Amino acid sequence: MRYRAVGFDVDGTLVINIGYCWEAFHERFGVSQKVRSLLRRRYEEGKITYEQWGQTEVGIWREMGVTYSDFVQVIRSFRLVDGAAEALGILRRGGLSLFVLSGTIRLVLELLLPQYRTIFDPVVVSDILFDEDERPVRFVPGQVLGMQRGDKGKELESLCEMMGLSPQEVAFVGDNENDVAALDLAGLGIAFCPRSRKAEEVADVTVKVPDLRAILPHIFGTPGEE
Ligand SMILES: [Mg+2]
Repeated sequence: MRYRAVGFDVDGTLVINIGYCWEAFHERFGVSQKVRSLLRRRYEEGKITYEQWGQTEVGIWREMGVTYSDFVQVIRSFRLVDGAAEALGILRRGGLSLFVLSGTIRLVLELLLPQYRTIFDPVVVSDILFDEDERPVRFVPGQVLGMQRGDKGKELESLCEMMGLSPQEVAFVGDNENDVAALDLAGLGIAFCPRSRKAEEVADVTVKVPDLRAILPHIFGTPGEE
């Protein structure tokens, strides 16, 4: 087998009916598009770090009086992609290590895939911390070796090193703009139900069926193909 590990994005990939959970939260909590775009632009222009971006958004939600239960309610509307349990099980039984490299927040995995810690290692996601009144208080970006978040290509490179693998031995499954560098670097980049043309362009294969089992032939190869 060519690949030894498979990395997954979460929002839009393992969780199929959203682009980014952050956008879904903003949408449901009623944060204006103007504020969201402004913050995104400041981040993209390098004026604020990924951490400051997240912390500012958490601060906005806090000011709005949003609570932990509101997050849970939004996440309850998210849906795990079809075939997830079966596909992940087959990959693990096939001897592949599975990991998560995502800008999502941990609560999404905790609620939708409670057994995620036994499936994926490492799990690189961010956390939102809540105070005793259940109000969001802090954003903690998940980290790879203390690196600033935001570049999944560099993060994937470090993860490969940590796992003792070359990027060529790793497949990465993602859907969006923030996955482009990782899809490009991985030995097998799988654009899964892509929401970004660039992601589709840099990926080695594109899977448009919203069922995680559809990635399996690409990872295991079909008989006679090498
Ligand atoms: Mg995504």
